[in-house]
Amino acid sequence: MKLAELGEFGLIDQIARKVSPDTSVRIGIGDDAAATEATPGCLTLTTSDMLIEGVHFNLDWCTPASLGRKSLSVNLSDIAAMGGVPRWFLLSLAIPPTLSVEFLETFIQGMLGLAEEHSVTLIGGDTCSSRSGLAISVTLMGEQRPELVVSRSGARPGDLVFVTGTLGDAALGLEMLKKGEQNGPAIESHLDPIPRVREGLTLAKAGLASSMIDISDGLAADLGHILEMSGVGARLLLDEIPLSPFYREAIPRYASDPYRLALGGGEDYELLFTVSPAAREEAFAICRSCGTEASEIGVITETRGLAIDSAAFPNYRLSAEGYNHFRND
Ligand code: ADP
Ligand code: MG
Repeated sequence: MKLAELGEFGLIDQIARKVSPDTSVRIGIGDDAAATEATPGCLTLTTSDMLIEGVHFNLDWCTPASLGRKSLSVNLSDIAAMGGVPRWFLLSLAIPPTLSVEFLETFIQGMLGLAEEHSVTLIGGDTCSSRSGLAISVTLMGEQRPELVVSRSGARPGDLVFVTGTLGDAALGLEMLKKGEQNGPAIESHLDPIPRVREGLTLAKAGLASSMIDISDGLAADLGHILEMSGVGARLLLDEIPLSPFYREAIPRYASDPYRLALGGGEDYELLFTVSPAAREEAFAICRSCGTEASEIGVITETRGLAIDSAAFPNYRLSAEGYNHFRND
């Protein structure tokens, strides 16, 4: 079937029929606005991310299902970084009329499959046609008790800097796709990142993280946001930056500086957080209990700025500053 035959309301109807019931949603898709029942005593956390064809994704590289998952994952990652429980989301689509109905069906299936894994419910959105590429906007709401919400501004001198997982894989995957490669774990990391929802929530519930952010623009840039918002600096232990075996093996073919993509590449969607030295072992244990290794990669300092320590690269200088949409390089 063609999109022109299905029409806007046919498409919305197809989407609505695939949404699982949720007792906290009093009025879902189909009315002028959705009505949801908030958990008493909780703050609402709201985040929104757009994915634009040609800017964030290339239809030749991703599958519709992975694009659907990723569109929700990047938002789940933001709620995770606040220590929140993700609950409800809105999906707005601008669709080129030439896009196939099968593509949209698989896209929605991928997205709603991931939504079910995280018990989040689609409650509405907007649908219109696009004269250029496909544009996807997801707005996700989460909740958390006020005392458990983790912001970017709580890092204190002496706190240890931790990161989940490994860094640079997604950026390496993008470089590989640009060179015409199609498979492998790095490409998988780029196309279908895993949001660290359980890790963020468990750290928040334990009251462990003094600050937290998800790494979407690269470690250096996102750590920079924590430092700026907290009014502190940090010493980064370069040799402790977690790199996957695949990344270590492949990176010499893509960059002369092995840390360039790990520090400056975006879209890892790992969590970067700070904890007091007394909470060090518990931070490792919590992440491990969620199935993710954490690494201690530095310490917060009173002295502003980011200093880099390394035995292997004594005079290391940052070559990349993370992704910035309005810069021309
Ligand atoms: P309105 O004209 O009041 O903006 P719409 O016709 O745009 O309403 O949407 C009708 C219903 O379908 C609303 O509940 C809206 O939230 C929902 N909706 C529209 N597009 C989507 C979408 N892409 N995904 C989920 N729900 C959608
Ligand atoms: Mg509308």
